[in-house]
Amino acid sequence: MAQIYDKVALIGLGLIASSMCHAMRRAGLAGEIRGYARSQETRDIAREIALCDVVYDSAAEAVQDADLVVLCVPVGAMEAVAREIGPYLKLGATVSDVGSVKRTVVDAVSPHLPDGVHFIPAHPLAGTEHSGPRSGFAELFDNRYTIIVPVEGSDAAAQARLTELWQAMGALTEVMDPEHHDRVLAVTSHTPHLIAYTMVGVADDLRRVTDSEVIKYSAAGFRDFTRIAASDPTMWRDVFLNNKEATLEILGRFTEELFALQRAIRQGDGDHLHDYFTRTRAIRRGIIEAGQDTDAPDFGRAKVRKT
Ligand code: NAP
Repeated sequence: MAQIYDKVALIGLGLIASSMCHAMRRAGLAGEIRGYARSQETRDIAREIALCDVVYDSAAEAVQDADLVVLCVPVGAMEAVAREIGPYLKLGATVSDVGSVKRTVVDAVSPHLPDGVHFIPAHPLAGTEHSGPRSGFAELFDNRYTIIVPVEGSDAAAQARLTELWQAMGALTEVMDPEHHDRVLAVTSHTPHLIAYTMVGVADDLRRVTDSEVIKYSAAGFRDFTRIAASDPTMWRDVFLNNKEATLEILGRFTEELFALQRAIRQGDGDHLHDYFTRTRAIRRGIIEAGQDTDAPDFGRAKVRKT
């Protein structure tokens, strides 16, 4: 595949950035990949495993002359990074991000970008519970959606080029506005994570009662919750602090449904439970038919490369 950008700078070198490095290399999409992470430890690891072509000790150095700069830090850190790199960006460069929330990131980053720099936010809907520079792999984005979230006045050519990059990294792409993105993600990702965190927290409390039985006999349902609940605490703290309204709205609806199911159980209303579970089963089938998961009995876990 042909090169799409000459110099690409990745700020933050965790799961998403390292997967981008591998995916760009796989298809020869960047002339040079530059990286920066705030800790010496991460920069040392990135150098040791030759993650990027060059690892810089400051974000400002990394972005100078870059044609594309991608902010790959937690949502709550985006503003400080944008403020730091703003004065060093090349005229005509594109700045993007991979944050899991879009409205607050757009508001936080935009004011720090000079005129003549194109801001095209994006969000790859792909991840694992692993973090850090060693956790990435080239296939992470394959056949997964990346949502491109243009802001007011976004340059069409810059948007098309970024879209081309994501598609060449294996992703399917879709365009959404920030509010719509945040509402959709509250349903499909953010609230489910919160529920998983809660369930694992409840089981942890019970463990004190039943000793190690929760772990010893952990069944598939609970194990899947624990995998989700092992996700990076900083990233997820920032997601909930930044997608407050949409998450609270979905949680409100979730609580109502939960009460209805609770009542059905108490009243022995088997029809209600059966109808409900029939409807939810169809959703699972729809996801498999759309190619977004496999119906392997292990939830396709074997596909995810372990680190
Ligand atoms: P990660 O593996 O935890 O890596 C985060 C990177 O950001 C690290 O290099 C870290 O630097 C840096 N960082 C953390 N706090 C920072 C701060 N306050 N200032 C500057 N740099 C900071 O995270 P990730 O999973 O790649 O996530 C990165 C972004 O992608 C987040 O915005 C997240 O919402 C989004 N995202 C994540 C997933 C997922 O499933 N993981 C999926 C889609 C999008 P050090 O290593 O030096 O600490």
